[in-house]
Amino acid sequence: MNNSDTQHICALCGKPVKVLSEAISEPDGSLSHFDCVIEKIRKEYRVEEPDTVSYIGQGRFAVCTKDEDGKYTIRDRINYESTDSFLSMKKLVESSRE
Ligand SMILES: [Zn+2]
Repeated sequence: MNNSDTQHICALCGKPVKVLSEAISEPDGSLSHFDCVIEKIRKEYRVEEPDTVSYIGQGRFAVCTKDEDGKYTIRDRINYESTDSFLSMKKLVESSRE
């Protein structure tokens, strides 16, 4: 089967992923929009203003927090595109917040 014409559907919002370079691979191998992943991380890590979620490359995201001087520092690093570390980190975060 030729997969080149397969339409990729975002695993998070269910809409088509048109630009693959702007997609992020999910731990289960599906794809999702860059923006949807940011939003998901924002919710899972309870990131609130003025903290932000940024992509820092190689499948990793960072939760940045702004200090009193307006300088951003990284609070959490998230290895989103690495299945095992992501899942264990997620469990860790969830269990530590319950
Ligand atoms: Zn999406």
